[in-house]
Amino acid sequence: MIELESMNRKEVKDICSFDYEELAEEIGILGEKPFRSRQIYEWLHRKSADSFDEMTNLSRNLRERLSETYEIRKMELVERQISKEDSTEKFLFELWDGNMIESVLMRHPYGNSVCVSSQAGCRMGCRFCASAIGGLKRNLSPSEILRQVYRIQRITKERVSHIVVMGTGEPLDNYENFVRFIRMISDEHGLNISQRNITASTCGIVPNIKRLSLEGFQITLALSLHGSSQEKRERLMPVARQYELQEVLKACDDYFKKTGRRVTFEYSLIEGVNDRTEDVQELTAILKPRNCHLNLIPVNPVRERDYRKPDRKNAGIFKNKLEKNGINVTIRRERGSDIDGACGQLRRRYAAADGRTR
Ligand code: SAH
Repeated sequence: MIELESMNRKEVKDICSFDYEELAEEIGILGEKPFRSRQIYEWLHRKSADSFDEMTNLSRNLRERLSETYEIRKMELVERQISKEDSTEKFLFELWDGNMIESVLMRHPYGNSVCVSSQAGCRMGCRFCASAIGGLKRNLSPSEILRQVYRIQRITKERVSHIVVMGTGEPLDNYENFVRFIRMISDEHGLNISQRNITASTCGIVPNIKRLSLEGFQITLALSLHGSSQEKRERLMPVARQYELQEVLKACDDYFKKTGRRVTFEYSLIEGVNDRTEDVQELTAILKPRNCHLNLIPVNPVRERDYRKPDRKNAGIFKNKLEKNGINVTIRRERGSDIDGACGQLRRRYAAADGRTR
């Protein structure tokens, strides 16, 4: 009997993944007036509702009908770590199917920024990255990317003004959901975060960089470079075998031409691997002709890998040499290194502790 019931149960839809127009259509089909859909959208995307019961300006009857057809998928806070060094916070969420994702809140003088994950795990396999170790579990739905931001706003009661898509996963490997996320997070009916305050980082999936440049967005593209030649890049990033460095750079140039947004290049500094004088020269040759910015990230040591970061002094020397060559460069300030660092290490620790790789 129970089995029969569950078989007959209609598929419940992930309500938070519908955009403003789609939700209006859905709610219209239920026979409700358009303002009801506006109220529901506001509960979901502005007031970060976690359940239909909270939507107190809707009748109990409507709330019940909503929960028959739709769901706000469970996303449970499993752990919250607060850095004593710089007030950076890390959040580990458990999704409805047991997958774990992490998000980071960084407080800056210009506002609060959230670093979101775009996938549970990642299949890009970058050698120095903790998220690559267990491989890809699955793509995140638009609602699962959005609600990382909503949940953090609700938990901290602080407004988020900036987004970086630099958590676990490769956003351009989950293209449709990622693009929908950008549309919805910057939509006036939702959090209305300015696209100019959003940066998305990619390891360089060329066809999707091209697609992204045609979306009409004003977001900043960050390109993970990490190696100053095709050969060095291949050693650190398997994806480089698929897309040649010159092709990737050309796609970045096109992105700048189409959007007018200057591309940021990211370069994880790894001692003895990519921090030598010849790297300065090669990097200069790549970046000098381009209107761009270079972000050096001293590599976060990952337990399972033996890469080390150069000491502060040597990182500074590397940066100064590039600056002298006329490159627009910064060293990314390390944040929250006392709380499982950046880069998927909290999620990783959980996976290691319970023997699974979620
Ligand atoms: N898939 C996207 C987003 C990844 S995370 C991409 O590849 O760009 C954002 C940045 O952190 C990327 O530049 C990534 O290469 C870098 N990163 C990953 N692991 C790191 C580590 N252990 N130390 C320093 N940077 C790391």
